[in-house]
This record gives sequence, C-alpha cells and structure tokens, in this order.
Amino acid sequence: MMAPIHRDAIVSFESVSKEYSGSLAVEDVSFSVYEGEFVTLLGPSGSGKTTLLKMVAGFIKADSGTLLLDRRNAASLEPRQRDIGMVFQDYALFPHMNVYENVRYGLRFRKLSRDTVRDRVEEMLSLVGLSDYRDRKPNQLSGGQMQRVALARALAIQPRILLMDEPLGALDREMRIRMAEELRRMHERVGVAVLHVTHDQEEALIVADRIGVMHQGGLVAMDEPREIFRNPKSVFAARFLSRANIVDAAVLQVYDSVSAAIGWQGLSFHIDCSPGQPTGDCRLAVPPWAFKIVPAGNPNAFAVRVREMTFLGEVTQFLCETADGVELLVRLSTAEVHEASLSALYLSLVEGLVSIVK
Ligand code: ADP
Ligand code: MG
Repeated sequence: MMAPIHRDAIVSFESVSKEYSGSLAVEDVSFSVYEGEFVTLLGPSGSGKTTLLKMVAGFIKADSGTLLLDRRNAASLEPRQRDIGMVFQDYALFPHMNVYENVRYGLRFRKLSRDTVRDRVEEMLSLVGLSDYRDRKPNQLSGGQMQRVALARALAIQPRILLMDEPLGALDREMRIRMAEELRRMHERVGVAVLHVTHDQEEALIVADRIGVMHQGGLVAMDEPREIFRNPKSVFAARFLSRANIVDAAVLQVYDSVSAAIGWQGLSFHIDCSPGQPTGDCRLAVPPWAFKIVPAGNPNAFAVRVREMTFLGEVTQFLCETADGVELLVRLSTAEVHEASLSALYLSLVEGLVSIVK
C-alpha cells in the first residue's frame, strides 16, 4: 500500500510527551493514523504503548505536545465525546449479559431506533461469525470467541477509530495467528482506522499497514512492514525486529546522496543511504538472513568459523566468528547447508537487505 498522504488523519500525535513522577513514559512522539489505516505500535513491555492509547481514549493527558482527533485538539474533548471503540486483552465483557446484549451495550445511549439497533447488532454478529452464539453467556465461549464479541461491541458504535491494546495476548499462538488473520480480513471489510498495540511481531506483521517500533517511550521507526525490515534506521529497531547484527563498517563514497559504497570484511558493495550521509565510519544492520553461502575462493566472500549451529527446521542458525573476531548470527536455508562443510563457511551478503543504522 502506498503512503496514505492523500487521506485525512484521524489521529495525530505532534511531539507528545508524558511523564510519570519524573521519568518519561512517552517522549516526543509524532505520527498519524489515517482514514481506513491499520497502524500497529510494536515494542517491549514498558515502552509506552498503552500510555499512547490511553491518551487517544482521553483517560490521560499529555504533558506536552498536541494530540489531534479529526484535526480538533483532543484537550477539549471528554472521553465520551471521542467516538472511539476499544478492545483490550481481558475482553471486559459483561458476564451476566449474553453475546447479543454485550454487542448491543454500546448502542444504548445513542439515539437510534429499535430497528436500527437490531440491524446493527445482527450485522456485527455476522461480521465476527457469532450469529449462532447470540444467546450464550461469556463463560460459555472460548477465548477467541470472547475476543470476537469484544470486537463486535467496539465496532457496533461505528467509531472513528478502533483502539486495541494487546487484543490477542491471552490466546495461544495458533489461535492468535488465526485471529490476527481474521482481524485483517475484517478490517478490509469495515475499513475503520485502527491503532493497535502489541509486543508480538508476528501479530503485527499479519495485521498492520504500518508498524511503529517503540523503545523507552520513543517511536524509533515507523513504516510499512517490508520497508521497516529493509531499513529499520535505528539500532534498537534492527535488533528488535530481526535480531540483526550491528557491525562497524566504512562509507567509502556517497553517490547522488542516495547510494553509498560500503567497505566491510574486505567486501565492497553498494547500499541505499539517506541524504547527507557522510563518508567514514558507520554502523550497519545485517539481518541473520542477509547472508549466502558461496564456494571457497569467491572474491566477494569472507570466511567465518562456526562456533554454534542450531537446526530450526526451515532454517539453520549459525553463531559465527570472522577472522577479526566479530561475532555474527547467520541464518541459512536448511536446504542450502545440507552437505556444506560446517566448521568454516564462506559467506557473501545479499546487499539489498543491509542498511545503515544510527
Ligand atoms: P507498555 O504498554 O508499552 O507496556 P506503558 O505505556 O504501560 O507501556 O508504560 C510506559 C512506562 O510508564 C512504564 O515504565 C510504566 O511503568 C510507566 N507507567 C505507566 N503507567 C503508569 C502510572 N499510572 N504511574 C506511574 N508509572 C506508569
Ligand atoms: Mg501495555
């Protein structure tokens, strides 16, 4: 999907910070969620994800910066004026109400006709595939089904934005992946703007149009999934997303400020760079899958000694050491390593997967 610059921003954070007793929970965060877009904030526990969601919901206020909802300053809007749907990890269903009543709940205070309410609830039950479960109570449902009820309830009010905080966190891995895939398909049908947070990378990759990586209260990278993997920009995002090796290298020359010649391990190769990239020392993110095995003596290769090897099914992971003592994590397709001599390897790089990081 192309960058959605032509669409309206539903939520915009502009240099937003939030402090809790002297320590920054959110620091100078700026980004927008556009109409119809699914944005996922991905980061470890404590990185500030929930704090950002609570600001959109209106449960807490920023200490500095501006939060815009539909281009209006959120500071002037009470939580119930915000037209927001919310889904949390613990579902928060009403145990004494059945599925139908739970989904209807958010519509009580809207001035809607009885028929409109009924049609809306039916539509939502059908969207999440629970039409046949309308009379069940939450304790008669599986975790995945409860999560679907919570989603139907949040969407029934036709919110301007849907907020989801670790919505699949209580499900086991297989169920989480299935629900994430379903969430993606539902989003394609409903088209509501979504701001979703998770610490689970697989979940993020399945659902998101754009992924933002959070670290210690800051947004360290934000882009479409492929792009953020190809060019994570920050050391933290590179390590967090792909366990990338962060290595010292040299920028030998810069061409037209968009491409650079790099020297590393006796290899020289070209990669994309940002405008203003100086020559001299740099750091590269080299993901474990950016290596390939080549025959000994290949001029575009370097030798490594293998210290550890772990069979992971489709791929085999190597902990290697270069001649000058740099440790590298390398993942090769198991098919590729079948009969190779595994105490020493000759490696070259897949250049398009290597990037400069700060
Ligand atoms: P995440 O959702 O990414 O796990 P949070 O937004 O919950 O992170 O928290 C960010 C930081 O702010 C953490 O260090 C957390 O301990 C702190 N924090 C969150 N809520 C409060 C609070 N009510 N009082 C004090 N500190 C808080
Ligand atoms: Mg949280």
